[in-house]
Amino acid sequence: MQLKEQLFQTTQARFGCAPDQCDDHQLYEALLLLTRSLAQARPAPAGTRKLYYFSAEFLMGKLLSNNLLALGIHSQVKELLADLGRDLGVIESMEPEPSLGNGGLGRLAACFLDSIAALGLPGDGVGLNYHYGLFRQKFDRNRQVEIPDPWLEADSWLIPTGVVFDVPFGGFTLKAVLYDIAIPGAGNECANRLHLFDVPEPAGQPWVGIDFEKGDIAHRLTSFLYPDDSDEAGRLLRVYQQYFMVSAGAQLILAELESRGYSLDTLADHVVVQINDTHPSMVIPELIRLLTARGMSFDDALDQVRRTCAYTNHTILAEALEKWPLSFIEKVAPQLVPVIQELDCRMKQAHPDPKVAILDEQNLVHMAHMDIHCGFSVNGVAALHTEILKNSELKHFCDLYPEKFNNKTNGVTLRRWLEACNPELASLIDSCIGADWRTDASKLEELLAFQEDDKVLDRLLEIKQANKNQLCRLLWAEQGIELDPQSIFDIQVKRLHEYKRQQMNALYIIQKYLEIKAGKLPEQPVTVLFGAKAAPAYVMAKRIIHLILCLQKLIDQDPQVRPWLRVAMVENYNVTWAERLIPACDISEQISLASKEASGTGNMKFMANGAITLGTLDGANVEIAQLVGEANIYTFGAQSDAVIRMYAGEGDKGPDGRSYHPLDYYHRPAVERLVDFLVSPELLAIGDPTELSLLWKDMKNKDWFMALLDVEAYISAKDQAIKDYADRRTWAQRMLVNIAKSGYFSSDRTIQQYNEDIWKLK
Ligand SMILES: *Cc1c(COP(=O)(O)O)cnc(C)c1O
Repeated sequence: MQLKEQLFQTTQARFGCAPDQCDDHQLYEALLLLTRSLAQARPAPAGTRKLYYFSAEFLMGKLLSNNLLALGIHSQVKELLADLGRDLGVIESMEPEPSLGNGGLGRLAACFLDSIAALGLPGDGVGLNYHYGLFRQKFDRNRQVEIPDPWLEADSWLIPTGVVFDVPFGGFTLKAVLYDIAIPGAGNECANRLHLFDVPEPAGQPWVGIDFEKGDIAHRLTSFLYPDDSDEAGRLLRVYQQYFMVSAGAQLILAELESRGYSLDTLADHVVVQINDTHPSMVIPELIRLLTARGMSFDDALDQVRRTCAYTNHTILAEALEKWPLSFIEKVAPQLVPVIQELDCRMKQAHPDPKVAILDEQNLVHMAHMDIHCGFSVNGVAALHTEILKNSELKHFCDLYPEKFNNKTNGVTLRRWLEACNPELASLIDSCIGADWRTDASKLEELLAFQEDDKVLDRLLEIKQANKNQLCRLLWAEQGIELDPQSIFDIQVKRLHEYKRQQMNALYIIQKYLEIKAGKLPEQPVTVLFGAKAAPAYVMAKRIIHLILCLQKLIDQDPQVRPWLRVAMVENYNVTWAERLIPACDISEQISLASKEASGTGNMKFMANGAITLGTLDGANVEIAQLVGEANIYTFGAQSDAVIRMYAGEGDKGPDGRSYHPLDYYHRPAVERLVDFLVSPELLAIGDPTELSLLWKDMKNKDWFMALLDVEAYISAKDQAIKDYADRRTWAQRMLVNIAKSGYFSSDRTIQQYNEDIWKLK
């Protein structure tokens, strides 16, 4: 049947009218239903071994446009709507963003699902159907306010499956109801599934904030996505969520194994479980429990599980490595306690070193330790990160099991992060090298042949300018922010965290502000854009947002500074805003303290859209620098080995154990005046004196992530970039090199490597 006819039938059946009679939301719903059923009708990819990608987060972003592209009907639908006098862009804007993730980790999982399907590999995601995703962020009196974000509408991408499992908790049992989201593969005829488990009919439960009654697990288990980072509230609830996800997921795995006609003792031949960070780690004891309950010996069950499970480490921040008190597990899932104790006993017998124990002296369960002992693969997410894991954080494990350790540098799907979000750039690329780069991103290298082609270079600059104009219109229409599209767009968008050092960027703004006030103008007008949510309980992160918003206001009010320097923080940074901001960026801010950002993926999205990176040698920035070469990136700052030595206190150790003393840097006159501006009369007149002075004190006395160490190098690197921007032709050549080299950071490449080295699906 023709698409046109299908759309007609859908709107008739749903709304009793023809498409041209529908309002925008009705048309969106009709397209959702149509697209969903086309994706649902596709068969799963063939293969005897199947991947289950377990993740507490899947930050999918809007799906309509993405799915239309994957189904190969995007341009057809666009034309069909145009014939009706409608704009697909407007229809797409009706879709609520499913925000089932916090940031990079969840977005990575979503990119991976896209690539697994595009490569035609049999692999499904397993997660939870949170009713309230990450909060919606508002700014009020220069502060972040969190508002609940119910993203589910009557019609959504969820497909009810009718599948239900019993999940046994201490003292009660809950039903886990399975919903699926179909993930169509781009360039093939298959579709995988994202399996999301939910409690039965919790929808009527009202939002009651972050400190709700935790006893009402039965109704509220999937109410909200745990806000990560330093939020300590609801820790027990999180263990409930984790066990619910892995128990239902493990039951699904065994049910599918048996329905495919395989016996339980062939689990490892037919199933691979990828554990995305430690949140799903209880899948290990749960699988062992289920297998032994069905008559397998503990030895055999452990052997199967050990050949089935693989673990991805995402962080070396000690505070983010999960350790649960055994008493929590005793309460949530007492049936797991003997399994974990048995695993602990066996591992202690084989490896008595307490540093590699699953259970420590305080009876804390080290989830990562369990994953490493009981899985066959441990991977980091960028070359530098994996080296740090092997040489410091997980050194003891690497000595025990060197063969398990491997690196899989992250990637992003260029179908969303280039083709869909930057269609003009995509068609320029098509006109240069053809359209194959969509499924073979290494082809992008062919763009290098156009480095001296003035037509291509001019067009690159034109497209960037058009994207900047477009972003300005959107920011004005949706948030009342007015920007100068001719200025340089310097963008830092990512979760707000001290290690990512938005505060160091704020110090740069202060430097420029003071210079302009003193009559020294920048080479070019600059706009510094931010987008970031802070975890609700992360006080310091909220203070940094407060500082940035105060600077924004100070400069907005100052007619002397405004023409040269602008600061804007976008409200509610999410995937949709990322898709608008990234194509409009000139300078990509990737300034984490070296050794702290495991990989980053924002850096890759920016690069693919022709932004030049200003970054430290951290995470995947190191690989970006190697690929594009020194001339096409700005790097600065202390390197990871030096930073690691300072944390270890090598040399002149201070009272906090480090050999980094922020006061030494603070007392440099060029730095002191920047830091002291936090408590200047100008800023105190706008902001909260207590908040600002606490931030000021922290910055000069503690500065845990060493912003003052790198701030001077940062300022000169950024000044250099702003200066270089004036040579438009050279800048365009560097943009082109960045785009050409971004093919390496396609998640298709990442997934191919997972498949070749770990999963072996085909
Ligand atoms: C890519 C992405 C991230 C991760 O950004 P990093 O710079 O790697 O931290 C976070 N949030 C959203 C919405 C993203 O799209």
